[in-house]
Amino acid sequence: MEKLTIIVPCYNEEEVLDDFYHEVKRVTESLESLETELLFIDDGSKDGTLSKLRALQEQDRSVSYLAFSRNFGKESAMYAGLKQAKGDYCVIMDADLQHPPALLPQMVQAVREEGYDCCAGLRQDRHGEGKLRSLFSRTFYKVIQKMSHMEMADGAGDYRLMSRQMVEAILSCQEYNRYMKGIFSFVGFETKWLPFENVERAAGQTKWSLRSLFGYALDGILSFSTTPITIAAVMGVILFVLSLVYGIGTGVHTLLYGNQVSGYTTIVCLVLFLNGIQLLVMSILGAYISKNYMESKQRPIYIVKERSAGAK
Ligand code: UDP
Ligand code: MG
Repeated sequence: MEKLTIIVPCYNEEEVLDDFYHEVKRVTESLESLETELLFIDDGSKDGTLSKLRALQEQDRSVSYLAFSRNFGKESAMYAGLKQAKGDYCVIMDADLQHPPALLPQMVQAVREEGYDCCAGLRQDRHGEGKLRSLFSRTFYKVIQKMSHMEMADGAGDYRLMSRQMVEAILSCQEYNRYMKGIFSFVGFETKWLPFENVERAAGQTKWSLRSLFGYALDGILSFSTTPITIAAVMGVILFVLSLVYGIGTGVHTLLYGNQVSGYTTIVCLVLFLNGIQLLVMSILGAYISKNYMESKQRPIYIVKERSAGAK
């Protein structure tokens, strides 16, 4: 019988785990001729998540878990899950029920019967999300689409069911700085989109502050685009042309009217402006170099401290 692995990254999710488990079980029981396993990844939770997982695993052998030695982030948890999963199909789901389990049967059908490699949920709106956060996210998606030439739609999250072939392709992307939305797009394959309404978290709190989202956005751009370097180059060319025009203009003016020493303000402005641009360009280069530095260390993407019986 074919197998579906449901991968659930969890970071401090003790409040929702039981609801999540029951909701998912209710749906998977209706899936015919498909065995399902639930694979939880405890991403270094500080609350009772791990003991909840141990208890679930005791009572249900289709549950297994990995527990990280500390919080490595959702990207690492997803990678660990995909690597550990044994299923012919894998689906990644948030523990907070924001990824409606009710979509699972349609997703399975799309990949199993309709010939897609992947079926992904597409969140329709940002209902219940802060205004500033929404604005920031929407702008980010516009920018990264332009810069990376990859398809990364706003609302296309990590809720997807994938064929084994696509999972293997994702696992072959071994980078340390992982940006899953980009990797999904990078590996290609044919994806069916299933629109769904945004729902608020069932319980507990979001793990994302505005600041961490900003860092995540920056990581995404640095991982999938070198456009910032091109922008730096274009700025250099523009400044060069401007200085040439200014130089020639001043030269002609001096020849015609003689040299008058003035322009203190101009000099101060130019010095500040050019130094500013130089620092900006250096920091862009620095950002890429620091990413490269982290890659070159080849550190593990995650470290496991505990595995359940089913996840060996
Ligand atoms: N998550 C994780 N590690 C982290 C942060 C989050 O495994 O460092 C998990 C979290 O437990 C949840 C999912 O990733 O299952 C999505 O997180 P969250 O709901 O906080 O994000 P949001 O839905 O607000 O974007
Ligand atoms: Mg959530």
